[in-house]
Amino acid sequence: MGLINRERLLSEFLELVQVDSVSGQERQLCDLLKGKLGALGLEVREDGAGAFGNGTAGNIIAQLPPAGGGPRLLFCAHMDTVEPGRGVKPVVGADGIVRSAGDTILGADDKAGIAAVLEALRVVREQKLKHGGITVVFTVREETGLIGAKALGREIEADYGFVLDAAGRPGEIVVRAPSQDKLTATVYGRAAHAGVNPEAGINAIYVAAQAIAAMKLGRIDPETTANIGLISGGKAVNIVPDRVYLEGEVRSLKEERRAAHTDLICRILEETARKAGARVETNVELLYRGFDLSADAPVVRFTQEAMRRCGLEPSLTQSGGGSDANILNARAIPAVNLATGMEKVHTTEEEIAVADLISTARLLLELIRLAGNQ
Ligand code: ZN
Ligand code: CA
Repeated sequence: MGLINRERLLSEFLELVQVDSVSGQERQLCDLLKGKLGALGLEVREDGAGAFGNGTAGNIIAQLPPAGGGPRLLFCAHMDTVEPGRGVKPVVGADGIVRSAGDTILGADDKAGIAAVLEALRVVREQKLKHGGITVVFTVREETGLIGAKALGREIEADYGFVLDAAGRPGEIVVRAPSQDKLTATVYGRAAHAGVNPEAGINAIYVAAQAIAAMKLGRIDPETTANIGLISGGKAVNIVPDRVYLEGEVRSLKEERRAAHTDLICRILEETARKAGARVETNVELLYRGFDLSADAPVVRFTQEAMRRCGLEPSLTQSGGGSDANILNARAIPAVNLATGMEKVHTTEEEIAVADLISTARLLLELIRLAGNQ
């Protein structure tokens, strides 16, 4: 297993994190990666996801045609980062941990995944390894709501999907993730002068407050959470406010629990508004579907076997949020989300151990080997 080249992998990871790619501004990284994948012998294309909204680049879809038999594998990581993500200066500590200089994120989320995929592909090429076909998908705008993944075409096919986008120690396999509703509501009351004739007004802030107080929020059950995260309304202290805007979310590992709790929140808003003579408009959007792979799903067993072969101890876990794995599973590509060793993501203290970067690349290589031997 000594085929993964530590120096090459680390230097490529450091190169990638120094290319700015905050969500929607992935153009430069996208071009760099298309070049690298092409040089590794893959057929590379970019889809039209950049045309949605204010994107500058599409998803990269790259394919290595089968060399032998076995299951078709798909590796997926996202190109974009959160802010502050510009001008990243990576520092490799004497402790073997890579961090940013401290004023930005590092971008191991998700460039650790990208670097591991590139290194594994390099070894496949050098060693002329057999495999049943490999698809690489590097998405855009994951961090702003899985926008890139949602735009992926239906023609993408694979037997097993591996998303490299979970924090935690390599060996952790995310097999369950929630679905999520986004909920917005506007409460309409009636404006009036607060001092002269408040009797003529209906206070939308008061109505919204009563409704929120009647809701169950936070952890609803072990698999379900709910939050009202934004509220705005009112114009001045001497006006009875006639409008309040709310935004919230409901997540659950069980689709029916999510739907039921979202429904309950909407009914509380409507009922409270009705009693106060106010009106409410609610809107619910399903942001993504959840997934729940059993311990003996073929992709899970396959992953566990590859982990054991390269000295990682597999453990099945669940996530509280969505990733590109949610979209792949919804597209009938059974996909797990693998921990890459990145920690404290979305903070300026984000870090990753070089040893974990190497473990992840070794694991990808082992997945490819295992597939080629089947
Ligand atoms: Zn990520
Ligand atoms: Ca992230």
